[in-house]
Amino acid sequence: MTARIIDGKTIAADLRGKVSDAVHRLRRDRGIVPGIAVVLVGEDPASSVYVRTKSKAVAEAGMHAFDRKLPAATPEAELLALIAELNADAAVNGILVQLPLPKQIDAQKVIAAIDPGKDVDGFHPINVGRLASGLPALVPCTPMGCVRLAKTVHETLAGLEAVVIGRSNIVGKPVAQLLLAENCTVTICHSKTRDLPAVCRRADLLVAAIGKPEFVRGDWIKPGATVIDVGINRVADQGNPNAGKDRIVGDVAYDEASQVAGAITPVPGGAGPMTIACLLLNTLRAACAQNALPGPPI
Ligand code: NAD
Repeated sequence: MTARIIDGKTIAADLRGKVSDAVHRLRRDRGIVPGIAVVLVGEDPASSVYVRTKSKAVAEAGMHAFDRKLPAATPEAELLALIAELNADAAVNGILVQLPLPKQIDAQKVIAAIDPGKDVDGFHPINVGRLASGLPALVPCTPMGCVRLAKTVHETLAGLEAVVIGRSNIVGKPVAQLLLAENCTVTICHSKTRDLPAVCRRADLLVAAIGKPEFVRGDWIKPGATVIDVGINRVADQGNPNAGKDRIVGDVAYDEASQVAGAITPVPGGAGPMTIACLLLNTLRAACAQNALPGPPI
């Protein structure tokens, strides 16, 4: 069997198009332009690239970007003061603080300082609790993207055996909560799980969010299963004649897994592109909620 490729790039472009149409209507009919403030502290090269990509996508969606760059040595109190300022600014509907933060800043304290209604990353304890309680919430972008990708394969996820590898607050735990809300039977695996391959073989839907290149092998996959690979790992490309060039691989050994799975996300081009598309959707939803408007049916 050769798996169907879940084309995250195209699915994300479609979602971004829908968000952009809804933003256009909001501006035309209500004079509202959703705005997001992306806060970057320091010069981490990967974070700087993410922030630039996000800002470009925000502009393409017709939203306002209020980027704030602070030096790496910024004291925690200064960042908290900026969050308070953004919380109070009606033009800012969403606030995203790029992680990781420098050592002198307590990331949990900063996340907790963001107005939960503007927490477009979905990391605030109130949004985490609301998601776990089955209440409307702003939910983390990468997990939301994973579920949307799975739904392009399965009309309903209800009743599926879902196995999530990874229990981070950013990916694993919220993916598991979202799949539970979709009525999957969810198992969460982590570094202490016994016989991980056997647990994975139960999965109709396998989500890998580990951060270890090509860790999940083909014979861990149930024939016909759907595999969502969240991992982004940079490895040296030994087969490449341009020695020194890196390539990006996922947490799943794609060549092996795609021979067994029914559907699989490639890396790059699978879960990755969905994150920004879902961030735009969250910002639009936050803007609607802050203006007492119903959320867009996207
Ligand atoms: P993390 O390091 O916070 O968490 C990794 C999880 O994997 C942990 O819960 C750990 O228990 C589990 N784990 C580690 N070793 C294991 C093992 N041997 N067996 C089973 N479980 C094991 O990482 P994260 O932030 O959740 O990110 C995971 C991956 O997803 C990374 O590659 C990251 O780059 C990628 N990621 C991608 C996106 C995106 O596509 N936009 C967003 C966030 C993270």
